[in-house]
Amino acid sequence: MTILLSTLNARYAHASLGLRYLMANAGELREQMELHEFVIGTKTTEIVEKLLARRAPTGTTILGFGVYIWNVEETTRVVALIKRIAPEIVIVLGGPEVSYESAGQPIVEAADYLITGWGDVTFPELCRAILDGAPPTQKIIAGRQPPMAEIALPYNEYSATDLAQRTLYVEASRGCPFKCEFCLSALDKTAWPFALDRFLGELESLHARGARLFKFVDRTFNLNIKSSLRILQFFLDKLEAAPNDPVFAHFELVPDHLPEALKESIVKFPPGTLQFEIGIQSFNPDVQTLVSRRQNDAKAEENIRWLMTQSTAHLHVDLIAGLPGEDVESFARGFDRLVALGPHEIQFGILKRLRGTPIIRHTETYGLIFDPYPPYTILATDRIDFAEMQRLVRFARYWDLVANSGRFGHTLPLILGDTPFARFMTFADWLYSETDATHRIALHRLAGLVSQWLCLDGYDEATVTAVIARDYAGQGRRTPEEKAAVREQYLAAPQRQARHMDA
Ligand code: SF4
Repeated sequence: MTILLSTLNARYAHASLGLRYLMANAGELREQMELHEFVIGTKTTEIVEKLLARRAPTGTTILGFGVYIWNVEETTRVVALIKRIAPEIVIVLGGPEVSYESAGQPIVEAADYLITGWGDVTFPELCRAILDGAPPTQKIIAGRQPPMAEIALPYNEYSATDLAQRTLYVEASRGCPFKCEFCLSALDKTAWPFALDRFLGELESLHARGARLFKFVDRTFNLNIKSSLRILQFFLDKLEAAPNDPVFAHFELVPDHLPEALKESIVKFPPGTLQFEIGIQSFNPDVQTLVSRRQNDAKAEENIRWLMTQSTAHLHVDLIAGLPGEDVESFARGFDRLVALGPHEIQFGILKRLRGTPIIRHTETYGLIFDPYPPYTILATDRIDFAEMQRLVRFARYWDLVANSGRFGHTLPLILGDTPFARFMTFADWLYSETDATHRIALHRLAGLVSQWLCLDGYDEATVTAVIARDYAGQGRRTPEEKAAVREQYLAAPQRQARHMDA
């Protein structure tokens, strides 16, 4: 093949939308193009061997890599090896991790070309120039952002295997009009929608081909309510037409904007078909102002409460620890406030310094110290020292294992009591002292440790045994028939969401 496209995804289930856009927009070059996706953790030599086996037997081979925060280190090694073994291969990079502050990045130094920003039309233009023997003289090429109507949509590039086995990423718009300084989308300053009829036509074909699990990557799905309503109606129509063959749709929402019309549509979705990811990030108004995040907290709270009580949507709400101006006490208050609203999952993230984001303007004033290596996680601030930050990191990991996993739905209220943050932190400290680990704790062992901690905390053994047994019997010890019955109830929902709804 003349043009190979490749990336390392974080998981097999994640199919790269960006590379599929490049293929869809390749025009006459499409037939000379092949996609090769890998998963992080794969041996570098294995990736290199597979890619080199597909290069053109004669003439030029172009190899394009999608570079992201989660794969930059491994992709750097892949590029370095290829340049040693087959230096004649033309390597082109693109993606958010190399689109900003690229000077001095080893992967950029090793590559031949870098396209920053939007690559949809610029990548094929560059390939044509290289193959025509008239390559550009400059290494860094600013990607051209064409009118949205000129961008070919990529959904035909999802294969039958993708449809059957992987999450399908779709986008009705790109960009975000908000300016939260920790977020790369803050640089967009606005959002650009694709023509809705055209987009819905693509969803229709995907659905006809068998797609049932759709993840919208739009940064703010509820920005344009008319469009949101039409998209929701698309899924409602499908659910009505085939209730036994349901769809599952995931959207990102801004929390303080849920007009009545949207609510009326949301309540029509049956359980196990709708998921919202909602960014709160911080409930501290001073911190919000510092990072230029506009948010009406009271409205956001009211909307989350409404979604939890009036709809069956699965809610995944994000908080970020380590933001400038936020200490542990302030974060804890926000965490407890969110727990009180009862979302199914709280994504407890630790601030990362994404390349290009304006958050660095606070570095000196707020003593922000970031890990220099990807994913550039915050290590300390003037209000949270390194040791304290590590406690928060472990809290986040254990929260995922115990709370977000949905495996301890009945036990969790005992752990959290009336002071969720403080009690879970005590539990996390104890768990770490017992295990010296945050990964590879088998479920059976974890259940034993949870039960041990609750007994040490003063609960009587019979209560603890009963509640753990209820959770544990509800998960690991179900017969295959019982597991199938739960799945049957929430046909389209991924396993973790089905567990939450069954709790
Ligand atoms: S955090 Fe969300 S709302 Fe803020 S800029 Fe990023 S995508 Fe937009």
